Amino acid sequence: MTVIAIIVAAGSGSRAGGPKPKQYQTIAGKPVIYWTLKAFCDHPRIERVCTVIAAEHRDLFLEATAGLALDPPVSGGETRQESCRKGVESLRLHNPTHVLIHDAARPFVSPELIDRVIAGLAHHPCVIPGLPVSDTMKRAPGGIVSGTVDRADLWSVQTPQGFQYPLIQEAHALAAQSGQFGLTDDAAVAERAGHRIAIVLGEMENRKLTTPSDIQDADALLTAKTFAGLPDVRVGQGFDVHKFAPGEAVTLLGVRIPHPFALTGHSDADAPMHALTDAILGTIGEGDIGFHFPPSDSKWRGVDSSIFLRHAVSLVEAKGGVIAHADITILAEAPKIAPHIAEMKEKLGAILHLDPSRLGIKATTTETLGFIGRREGIAAFAAATVRLPAHGPLR
Ligand code: MG
Repeated sequence: MTVIAIIVAAGSGSRAGGPKPKQYQTIAGKPVIYWTLKAFCDHPRIERVCTVIAAEHRDLFLEATAGLALDPPVSGGETRQESCRKGVESLRLHNPTHVLIHDAARPFVSPELIDRVIAGLAHHPCVIPGLPVSDTMKRAPGGIVSGTVDRADLWSVQTPQGFQYPLIQEAHALAAQSGQFGLTDDAAVAERAGHRIAIVLGEMENRKLTTPSDIQDADALLTAKTFAGLPDVRVGQGFDVHKFAPGEAVTLLGVRIPHPFALTGHSDADAPMHALTDAILGTIGEGDIGFHFPPSDSKWRGVDSSIFLRHAVSLVEAKGGVIAHADITILAEAPKIAPHIAEMKEKLGAILHLDPSRLGIKATTTETLGFIGRREGIAAFAAATVRLPAHGPLR
């Protein structure tokens, strides 16, 4: 049995609101489609993962799916049915025995559900997941009830829907040839061609994200789930100082700010970014910035300090951890920091893989006291919270 997953992501997803189609909106720090595709990429029974996208979303798709092993995306059609047909056709060369067709907007598909559909395909040519309808169903044309529908045999169906590959390929071709383009799932395409379709039990969590509140709920759920799997909470702190020398700008948290002096010392002398790097290294006991990037090594002279921060983040992520929060205080009489905080948060968020709402950036003077008050340099404090899987020894 060779099984290829086709993920259908060509819709405009406009009911979810927001600046991007719903499958590209972010939940728990990554686009919805990333989580959906990852579920199939990580599943041992899935040979390849093929995605059908709207041609105009190509850049969004490539950005959203960086790091996943995927087939090049296929361009979709006018309707969901047409997009699925194109996805199915694109696999001719691979000629799998089976395909699973899944909605990109169902990121909570579990490995067990994928297993259940694949197990069903050993006995049936077509298998779809569904849940028995538990609400009472009414028929109500124009909003006035005309009758109660017997719910005994009613199922609310989901994806992934599994099919023998030649069967669904032919069923899609037949439907298109006869001018049928508006079918809303692939089972309907197979039904139309006269095939028997078996139902396996679906999952409540495998719901389709449709509205703005669906996206918000999914974000909260997945963030909580991610954090629950990372119970080892650690806080690190860092401190750094750099002194002024003649110049025309300072770089603070990656943002170049015009100033009558420049900061000197290690790299681009971005003191708050160095403090933050040390805070993150501190959470995992991995020394400090000078240990990883010795100031005596001339190759670090003048370089962008984000290199160091990225390295610290990669060490945390290699342990399966995430940065959950960071808080930075810059101590300086000048320049003014407040006008640059939004840009700083955006830059740091991208490096830390963190929503800007989890970042604090503050600035204070020292009331003209001390070396900072005398405008001899800039100092910075940072704290970072990291969450790790619970596998390190305590003692
Ligand atoms: Mg430094």
